[in-house]
Formats: sequence, C-alpha cells, structure tokens
Amino acid sequence: MGDTTIIEEEALKNETLLQNKFTEISNEFRKMEILSYETDYSKRFSSTPGAPEETEKMPVKTLVFHLVNECNLRCTYCYAGDGEYGVPQKYMTMETADHAIQFLMENSFGEDTVNIVLFGGEPLLNWKTLKHVVEKATEEGRKWGKQVGFSLTTNGTKMNTEQMTFLHHHNVMVSVSMDGTKEAHDRYRPMAGGQGSYDRVSKNVEKLMDIHTSAPIGTRVTVVKDFEKLEKSLKHLLSKGFYEVGFAPVTETNMQLALNEDDLFELLRQFEELSELFVEHALKNEYIGFSNLTNLLKELHTGTNKAYGCGAGLGFFAVSPDGGLFLCHRFNENEEFRMGDIYFGIDQKKRKQMLEDLHVDNKSTCKSCSLKHICSGGCYYEAMERQGDYRKPNAHYCNWMHEWITIGLKAYVKILRHNPTFLDKISGTTKERCISN
Ligand code: SF4
Ligand code: SF4
Repeated sequence: MGDTTIIEEEALKNETLLQNKFTEISNEFRKMEILSYETDYSKRFSSTPGAPEETEKMPVKTLVFHLVNECNLRCTYCYAGDGEYGVPQKYMTMETADHAIQFLMENSFGEDTVNIVLFGGEPLLNWKTLKHVVEKATEEGRKWGKQVGFSLTTNGTKMNTEQMTFLHHHNVMVSVSMDGTKEAHDRYRPMAGGQGSYDRVSKNVEKLMDIHTSAPIGTRVTVVKDFEKLEKSLKHLLSKGFYEVGFAPVTETNMQLALNEDDLFELLRQFEELSELFVEHALKNEYIGFSNLTNLLKELHTGTNKAYGCGAGLGFFAVSPDGGLFLCHRFNENEEFRMGDIYFGIDQKKRKQMLEDLHVDNKSTCKSCSLKHICSGGCYYEAMERQGDYRKPNAHYCNWMHEWITIGLKAYVKILRHNPTFLDKISGTTKERCISN
C-alpha cells in the first residue's frame, strides 16, 4: 500500500493541467458543431444522479454464478489465490443454482432482460451445474417473460466438442483468457503441473471458432510487467478469430508483477497506437476489436453519466457456490462484502450504506474531477488493493485516466467527423453491426 495522501495531493496538483486538456478537447465538439451530444454533454455532466433512496426497489439485472472456486491453472497473478479464494474447494450444486435462478427472477422486477455470468475458478470444472443453469434459467425466463443472456469466462483449457456445441446452441457469449502469443501467455499462465497452457487453449480456441458461431467470442489479456507489445498481442489474438481483445493491467501490489508508473505510461503510449489503428480502420468501416477503446467510445457516444465506478451493488451481484451474495465476483467469499444470500435476500441496510459511501460525490478528489461521470472513482476492488479502502478513489491512476480519456476523445472526434454511423453501430444504436476486421 502506498502513501495515499501524497498520491492524492499529486493528483490534485495535476488536476488543473489535465482538466484544461480535457476542456480543450471537449471544445473541439463545440467548434465542429457536433450534434446535440456536445450541447447535452455539459448539461448531462453538470449533475450526478444521487445515491438511491429505496434500494429494495432496485432490480437485480446481472448475477455472477461462482460455479466452483477451483481452477486447473496456477496463474502467477491470480487474485483468487490460485483460483481458490482462500477457502476450501466448493462446487455449486444444481439445487443451489435453482435457488439462485429463482432469486434472480424474483428480484429483477420490471426488467425483461437479465444476465447470468458463468464464472469460477474455472466454471467448466462444474459442467453439470453450468449446463443445468443455462437450461433451467432459459425455461424459467420463459415462464417469467424474461430474456436471459448468458456469458462465460473460461481459461479455455477444458472445452470439449459437446460443450462447445451446447454453448453455441444457447448463444452463450464466451470470453477466453489469453495473454497474447505463446511466449507471453505461457509466462504467467501455467497448468497446475507447471507446463504452459497456450498449446491446449490455442487448439480449443480453433475448434471453438468453428463450432460456436452464434455469438462473437472475445478474449482478455492481463497486462503484467515487461508486457509483450500490445499490437503484437492484439494482432495475434484477432488472427485466432477473436472478435474483441480487452487489456487489463494486473491487480497486484507485488512489484515484480505490478505495473509501475513508467510501465503504465508505456501502456498508455501503446493504447494510443492501438487507438490510431482503430480509427484508421473505423474510417474504412472496418472494426478492429480493441475493446478498451470500443467501450470508451460507446460511453462518450451515449453520454454516460455515472455516479458509481461500476454496477456492483446496484443491479449486479455475485453468488458464491453455497448461495452467499457478494458485492461482486472479486469480493467473493470476503465476509466484509457479503450482501445477504439467495435464500433470505439482499441485506438492504448494508446495500444502502455501501451505495452511500461509494457514491462519486463522497470521494474526495472525484467530487470536482472533470472525469467523474465517466470514471466515477473506478473499481472498488482495485481501490481496496491499492489504496487500502474500497471507498477511496483510485487515485493511483487519475493521471493515466485523464490521458486515456483524452486519447478516446480525439478518436471520437475523428470518427464522428468522417464516419459518424460507425459510432451508432458500435454503440448498438442501430441494428447493423460492424464485424469485419
Ligand atoms: S473520477 Fe477517476 S480520474 Fe477523477 S479523481 Fe476520481 S478516480 Fe481520479
Ligand atoms: S468492483 Fe471492480 S471488479 Fe468488481 S465489478 Fe466493479 S469494476 Fe469489476
């Protein structure tokens, strides 16, 4: 844990400089008379939605099912402590899964679409329950008049043909964790026996691409110190057939793995290169799946105005193998973040207090930050790891965030000027999708 006061002071010192930069780019919108977004922009951003008063009336829209807390990989950087979250092995039973599905149906009042995230450890280690969840929730969704969307995060080492076919038939959105080329991937993602996992994953991914054509398949790269050139990783993974690649810096305080300030700025520089590549293709109506930028562009285009770093505790919860409810998947099995259970419901008192505490206007530096409606203080888990308190702003990355948003705004302005419909497509505001890469 660093000296957070010094970091916060630094962030404040740089604030004026960075805010000017942000304003400068925002002014581009005005000069170019860019549609209503630009006018609404300031209005939208002038007030933050308040903390919810009646949390018991807020629907649960997404539930992460921790089907198992065990994993067959031993990734050096895993936040779950070798996949086990520091607790004995637990597999979710079908009975618990049924209760969790019931909980979601009953608590998603007013919503006609809900989402289930199939998660672990490695969720495919509990295939019987996974399959049951998809079939049962689809059936329950029909009874309740709700569309159920499924997504699966997997390390990709355990998939067989039958499983791939099932995932295809049920339109499950699959995300496979891969860290780039074989060399980069095998460095930190060994099997439990110590050998690299790349060959196995790569073979499965090839097969998956052939079989599972009903929903695009994405991948996520964990960026660790001395990381491979991002463009190399991106091109390699797109060539394997992935629709999108997302890059996430490792959440680590161990400085042998964590990115220091220089590494973070190198990451930013490479994000800028990828953004330029993205724009170059976007202007030709081609989609290069660099999802970090896609997500930012979507937020800019739809005028996101967030009061919270993410949806945890709002419409999003995680359920542990034995039915406990937690703030999100990364807080799984951490009693401080237990939010009730699927049998007796959400602890509304705790939820209300947490949402009060986590509101962006209750975070010292965020309150007056020009990015507060996009960043809103960032991830609570990261804040706990880096700042020692989940309620604190992620002050260690404020400068980075300002620079990144500036890169995003520049990309946004260029695309808006020369190919505006591309932004509608990636934001889902038109039915047409951009899928060529
Ligand atoms: S909103 Fe984000 S960038 Fe702004 S002060 Fe808070 S954590 Fe930093
Ligand atoms: S707290 Fe962090 S890890 Fe959890 S859902 Fe929010 S952004 Fe994700």
